[in-house]
Amino acid sequence: MNLPLHWRILIALVAAVIAGSFFGDSEALLKVCGTVGTLFLNALKMLIVPLILSALINGLIGGAEQGGLGRLGALTFGFYVGTGLLAILTGLAWANLLTPGIVNGMPAAPLLGLSSDANAVITQVQEKGAQDLWGVIVRLVPTNPVEAAAKGDMLGLVTFGLLFGWALSQLPGSLRDNQGAFWKGVYEAMIRITALVMKAAPIGVFAIVTGTVAKTGLAALQPLAVFMAAVVLGLLTHAFVVLPLVLKLVARVPAFALHRAMAPALLTAFSTSSSNATLPLTMDCIENKAKVPRRVSGFVLPIGANVNTDGSALYECVAAIFIAQAYGLNLSFAAQFTIVALALITAVGVAGIPSASLVAIAVILSAIGLPLEGVGLILAVDRVLDMCRTALNVLGDSSATIVVARLSGEDGVLEQPALKR
Ligand code: ASP
Repeated sequence: MNLPLHWRILIALVAAVIAGSFFGDSEALLKVCGTVGTLFLNALKMLIVPLILSALINGLIGGAEQGGLGRLGALTFGFYVGTGLLAILTGLAWANLLTPGIVNGMPAAPLLGLSSDANAVITQVQEKGAQDLWGVIVRLVPTNPVEAAAKGDMLGLVTFGLLFGWALSQLPGSLRDNQGAFWKGVYEAMIRITALVMKAAPIGVFAIVTGTVAKTGLAALQPLAVFMAAVVLGLLTHAFVVLPLVLKLVARVPAFALHRAMAPALLTAFSTSSSNATLPLTMDCIENKAKVPRRVSGFVLPIGANVNTDGSALYECVAAIFIAQAYGLNLSFAAQFTIVALALITAVGVAGIPSASLVAIAVILSAIGLPLEGVGLILAVDRVLDMCRTALNVLGDSSATIVVARLSGEDGVLEQPALKR
């Protein structure tokens, strides 16, 4: 069949929603889907550690050879912080506009079954500092890189990969060249395995989504509908207004060309709720469809998949505001500013795995003194929103790659001639 991959994945998605809704009580179906879905996810996860390490090392050696590492790094991090902030502010605007935590002019805590005493919560919020944030910073440096890799602590692995790649790029002559050739080989081998796994993507996506729809159902979501609307509208605004504007104005590429090129990766992110598991596909699309040279993608994407999470940052902000509103907290400018700052910092620590944002939300809630039962509240709708925010996380990473490649003077990105400098 010659249908492009993203169409096949899309058909699998629709078929899965139908299968999950109508045959969700068939144990045999769930068993088969569970096994096939896990196999697909395992295959993707199996690639993550060698792919992240080899891509980072190649990216750093390549970048250093062309003398642009400092500029590449500065552009990348500038973009991450800038778009992360824009995402959070977009979420903030929608949360203030739709006020999901207020129903008929009253805080929704009783309606939502939240049991903590609202007055006690408010006092607690006023007394709290932001001490829980230090945990995220400490995780930046792993005690043992092998353990970090084995435990899936990607933040630690990225730090080690960055240091190792940088150190290799500083070695003299043959030492650097031998290592460079070795890691290039590892990377190429991983890309080939990725291509193989991608062939199975429609089947894997069908299996995963059928299971999710059968388990969560579509009706259980109603009470939190306004909260969901605020999140989804925020994500859509960032994906279809903010990022396209950035791509058009800063990178000077057609506003939606990237969305088309990344379609298979976005749909896989949506289905797997894991930007780390999607990384092999993201790399494939960005190199082969968006035509970003490996020098840039190898550096920007592995870091981005772990630290640049626009969708998660936006979600954290809306969730924290929603829970605060539900308790009747008067959200002054200062309180909202605290939430924005915390969302920006904790989003860096959000791993690219399903439901990782819940941990960050717990950190924000406890940092501003809100009870953790709020996390339990959003749990019911987290999976669906996770699918949406993960797709935005991947789109954000890809946009970063495009912008950095264009500002670094690369030719042929999204079929555009190099920018004149
Ligand atoms: N699932 C998200 C990702 O993989 C992280 C999160 O927001 O929970 O990017």
